[in-house]
Amino acid sequence: MTYRAEYIWIDGTEPTAEIRSKTKVLADGEKPGTWGFDGSSTNQAPGDNSDVVLEPVFQCPDPIRGGDNILVLCETFIPEDMSPHPTNTRALARAAMDKYGAQEPIFGLEQEYTMLDPVTAWPAGFPDHGYPRPQGPYYCGVGAVRIHGRDLVERHTTYCIEAGLAISGTNAEVMPGQWEFQIGPVDTLTVGDHMWMARYLLFRIGEEYGVELSIEAKPMKGDWNGAGMHSNFSTKAMRENYDAIITACESLGAPGKPEEHIKGYGSGIQDRLTGAHETQRFDTFSYGVSDRGASVRIPWQVARDKQGYIEDRRPNANADPYVVAALITNTCCEALA
Ligand code: ADP
Ligand code: MN
Ligand code: MN
Ligand code: MN
Repeated sequence: MTYRAEYIWIDGTEPTAEIRSKTKVLADGEKPGTWGFDGSSTNQAPGDNSDVVLEPVFQCPDPIRGGDNILVLCETFIPEDMSPHPTNTRALARAAMDKYGAQEPIFGLEQEYTMLDPVTAWPAGFPDHGYPRPQGPYYCGVGAVRIHGRDLVERHTTYCIEAGLAISGTNAEVMPGQWEFQIGPVDTLTVGDHMWMARYLLFRIGEEYGVELSIEAKPMKGDWNGAGMHSNFSTKAMRENYDAIITACESLGAPGKPEEHIKGYGSGIQDRLTGAHETQRFDTFSYGVSDRGASVRIPWQVARDKQGYIEDRRPNANADPYVVAALITNTCCEALA
């Protein structure tokens, strides 16, 4: 029996890269090998030298097609010298893991997203030409007035589990139509692989439901929470002692570091990190225990147990998990080395 491999890669769209995919039909027993695509149609190459190489790096069962069908995540390479394409951010996470893997860095990423009408871009649960009641009852809410789109969320969770992704939970968020799932805790490279696959499944399910799943950072201006990708992080040392927790927090605030990180934490971050709606301002760095208005939060159990992990609350929902994980690993592990 033939089967299908869906080749998935990250394109060169700016300011926020998007997922592309295409299908390869394989003979029984044939493995998914090197492939390529037209980079001039994805903002990854000029028309007169358009080939970009796809190299499979992570694969899992395809829960949408079922059967023997698979999803194949790829890195992109330039054919001339097989160097990583400039948009191949997985190479950054690979390098960080090569350098600091011995410190056993792990991440849990909280992906927030918003369900939008594909035509009007109005969120699920917002009346056609108006606004719902203010934020308050929606976070982790129950019932038809508060909750919109749970069926889609459940389907996504089931698919992630069937694909073998490290999904660790979901919840309804503060704004109506806004949801979250978490991936992790897994290492610096794996967390990006699983997050991009989970995003792919989310957008694909949206096709079936006629819903746009948006990872825009501030889909509704005004008094509505933005969407983030809080990044929970630890190394072996941080999981064992509190000095390492403090060293990691301090390293993220060292001269030049906040600016370097903010640049890699997603587009439109100034609109989301305003200092309101459970954020610290984008141009200010702070850390604190239980503080959801800080850049970096130390969970209360971690302060009590004197070991555990930290939460970098700054990354946007539209950030690239490979870039975020590489930045945090490099900064913290260098200070902890
Ligand atoms: P919040 O209270 O911020 O909403 P969540 O429960 O949504 O927190 O997410 C917490 C995340 O932290 C989970 O993804 C979990 O896997 C991750 N996590 C737990 N322990 C660790 C650890 N030691 N290192 C890194 N991440 C961790
Ligand atoms: Mn959360
Ligand atoms: Mn959240
Ligand atoms: Mn959080």
